[in-house]
Amino acid sequence: MSTPVENVVIVGTGCAGLTAAIYTARANLNPLVLEGSLPGGQLTTTSEVENFPGFPEGVDGFMLMDNLRKQAAKFGTRFEQALVQSVDFSSSPYKLVCADRTLLARSIIVATGASPRMTGVPGEKELYGGKGVTTCATCDGAFYRKMDVAVIGGGDSAAEEALFLTRFASKVYLVHRRDTLRASKIMADRATSHEKIACVWDSVPVAVEGVAQGAVSGLRIRNVKTGDESVLPVKGIFVAIGHVPNTGPFAGALDVDANGYFVPQAGSQVKTKVPGVYVAGDCADHVYRQAITAAGMGCQAAIEAERWLAEHGG
Ligand code: NAP
Repeated sequence: MSTPVENVVIVGTGCAGLTAAIYTARANLNPLVLEGSLPGGQLTTTSEVENFPGFPEGVDGFMLMDNLRKQAAKFGTRFEQALVQSVDFSSSPYKLVCADRTLLARSIIVATGASPRMTGVPGEKELYGGKGVTTCATCDGAFYRKMDVAVIGGGDSAAEEALFLTRFASKVYLVHRRDTLRASKIMADRATSHEKIACVWDSVPVAVEGVAQGAVSGLRIRNVKTGDESVLPVKGIFVAIGHVPNTGPFAGALDVDANGYFVPQAGSQVKTKVPGVYVAGDCADHVYRQAITAAGMGCQAAIEAERWLAEHGG
C-alpha cells in the first residue's frame, strides 16, 4: 500500500502547533498533528497563566492546552504520536522520517518548541527525575512539603517556580548568578519580597550532592565574586535557566542560528527557505517566547500553508 500524501503535517502540540491545527482544520485541510514527548508543550508544566488574553481570572496551563486540543479535534484534526528523527525537504512531497514510518506531506508546519536547559554540574543528571532534581515545580512541587528547596535561575520562570514552591516548601532559595533578577518587575518584586524566598545572589551551582544516597541532599554553590563555596541544605532542586530549541532533526534542511533557533526568511516570521514548510512558536522565537506569540505564529503558518496549498494543488 502506498504512503498517503498529507496536505499538511504539523509537528508539535504546544500553543503554536495547536493553533495551526485549529486554523488548518477549519480550512478543511484535514491536518495531521504529530505529538511528541510532551503533549501540550511547555504550558502544561506551568501553573496559572495570567497573561493569556481572554482569561481575566487567569487559566491553568494544562487546561488551556487541553481546550486548544479539543478545539482542534472538533474541526477534524488528526493526532498521532511520533517523534521526527530526520527529514528530506529536497523535493515534494516532503518526507518526515519517524521511528516506525515515513510520512509524506505537501506542506509542513514545524512547531517543536523548546526544552529546559540544564546546568550540567555533577550530580544533576544522576539525580534528575524523581530523585530531587527537576525542571517543573507544577509537576513536582507537592513532593517537597515542609522541605527546603532551591530554584536556579533569575528569569520569569525561576521567579514563577520559586513563588509556586512557597505553597509547599518551608524555604525556597533562589540562586542566581548575578545580583538582579532578569524577571519582569512584577514577578521579581513578588519573588524578592516573599517571606519564604531567600535570594542567593552572585552564585552558581557547582554540584548536586547526594548521588551516593540516590537522593538530593544539598546544592553546592560558589559565589562568583568571592570564590567561596557553600552547600544549601535542600532536598529539591528546580532548574529554571532557560530553554534549548527542539530543532535538531530539521537543522540540516532549514536555517538555524548559532543557538539552534530557526531563522525565518526576511520579511516573515514563519516562512522558511523551503516553499510550503513553515516554522512557528518557541523553536523559531528567542525574543518573545510567549504563549500568545506562539499561537500568533501558529496562525500565520497555517494561513501561509493554506495559501501555498491553494496555489500548488492541495
Ligand atoms: P530566561 O529569561 O532566558 O532566563 C534564564 C535565567 O537563567 C537568566 O536569569 C540567566 O541568567 C540564567 N541562566 C542561564 N544559563 C545559566 C547557567 N548556565 N547557570 C546559571 N544561570 C543561568 O528564561 P525563562 O525564565 O525561562 O523565560 C523565558 C521567556 O519566557 C522569557 O521571555 C520570560 O519573560 C517568559 N516567561 C514568562 C512568564 C510569565 O509571564 N508568567 C513565565 C515564565 C517565562 P542571566 O540573567 O544572568 O542571563
